[in-house]
Amino acid sequence: MNLSKLTIAEARRALDAKEYSALELTDAYLTAIAEKNPEIHAYLEVWENTAREEAKKADEMISRGESRPLTGIPIAVKDNILIEGRIASAGSKMLEKYTATYNATVITKLKEQGAVFLGRTNMDEFALGGSTENSAYGPTKNPHDISRVPGGTSGGSAAAVAAGMALVALGSDTGGSIRQPSAYCGVAGLKPTYGVVSRFGLIAAASSLDQIGAIGKTVGDAQLLFNGVRGYDKNDSTSLPDSTEIKSGKRPLRIGVPRDLFASRLDTDSSARFEKTLNSLRKKGYEIKDIKLFSDPQIPLAVYYIINPAEVSTNLARFDGIRYGLSVTAPSIQEVYSKTRGTGFGPETRRRILVGTFVLSSGYADAYYRKALAVRETIKADFARAFSAGGGSSFGGESVDAIVTPTTPGPAFKFGEKSDPLEMYLEDIFTVPVNIAGVPALSVPMGTVARDGKDLPVGFQIIGAHGSEEILFSIGNDIEQV
Ligand code: GLN
Repeated sequence: MNLSKLTIAEARRALDAKEYSALELTDAYLTAIAEKNPEIHAYLEVWENTAREEAKKADEMISRGESRPLTGIPIAVKDNILIEGRIASAGSKMLEKYTATYNATVITKLKEQGAVFLGRTNMDEFALGGSTENSAYGPTKNPHDISRVPGGTSGGSAAAVAAGMALVALGSDTGGSIRQPSAYCGVAGLKPTYGVVSRFGLIAAASSLDQIGAIGKTVGDAQLLFNGVRGYDKNDSTSLPDSTEIKSGKRPLRIGVPRDLFASRLDTDSSARFEKTLNSLRKKGYEIKDIKLFSDPQIPLAVYYIINPAEVSTNLARFDGIRYGLSVTAPSIQEVYSKTRGTGFGPETRRRILVGTFVLSSGYADAYYRKALAVRETIKADFARAFSAGGGSSFGGESVDAIVTPTTPGPAFKFGEKSDPLEMYLEDIFTVPVNIAGVPALSVPMGTVARDGKDLPVGFQIIGAHGSEEILFSIGNDIEQV
């Protein structure tokens, strides 16, 4: 088996045909991890023994003729998704020794199907960042150039898939954390519609923006993993009914390009890759048209960096040295709080808590937080207008089936290159509007650009209306063919 080319469909065929066993497949991945992980540092922990046991169970399911789409498929899991009895640290010292007491719903679903869990992958602390440099356990390296970041926050998951250390991986995306690392590592990553995949058992960053999603070498792999974890869950109060899905019936599809959102921010060679990809879609019969999406392209990022810190500061209030994780002993309760939080959280996490506490504080909440919530509604309305039949005046009365942009302004950057937090935040400018509106988006590779003699992948982002994942997969498949 060639792990650098293997897809779920091919593994499924070979496993069911008994060309190799799930145990052999798992062992092949464990060997690849032992070889490559010391350099790439995609995994924080590898679960050799339980992975082998799970693989043996999968082999029994296959022998009994009970194989399901993900039976025996080796999967990497981001370190913020709970597996009962396993440490889930969210890339933080605060939760270094925290052991999950229950399974996330996505894990329960994958266990029922006989999937194999290889280990937990590195991430920016509490899913805050864009490079994995904010992990308390050291960064992950980009398999295409180890002097560069893999992206973040699901950098470990994307690097594991890109380096052939996992067949597919689960990540989470609050403002781009599946799509941006997928683009930088040259793999496919889906951020599903908000509410379509359960967040039960996902360590919360910003609850109204967070979604668990799938990273695979191909669009088909991301789709299979997504199908394996999606579905209504009574344990998640924001979970959507299963009927939300929109089928891709009508052809040809019309695609909108909001150039004013990205034109001025794009590297010239990334821009050329983007135009080439657009052209290939045009040749396949898609109708491509320029649209104006937002009145001001800066607005979504500003809204995001108020709502995200506000929700982060609230969610992370529970890490107080008493209830979970790290506890630093001190003479007074006040000092237990301050010493635990001062040592347990890294600099970016503390920055978000401070900003979030400020924008929520009395006297400022109206000017910042509530204003951001109001503007959030206009961003949702902008997307709704673009996707709704009839459209708006800026669409010439016509709606679009999908909106496309580059996933990021350029390829992966070097370690330390974006030490100014605002520069790092600008990497998210094309991805955050999606989370603000709760719509789905898929990043697919659109070739490479050269930097310092290395070919670095860049990504093409396809955004759809709520529940339109199938449309995104079908466009993504068309791009993959060229
Ligand atoms: N880079 C963004 C942030 O730091 C998005 C992170 C994410 O999607 N989890 O908030």
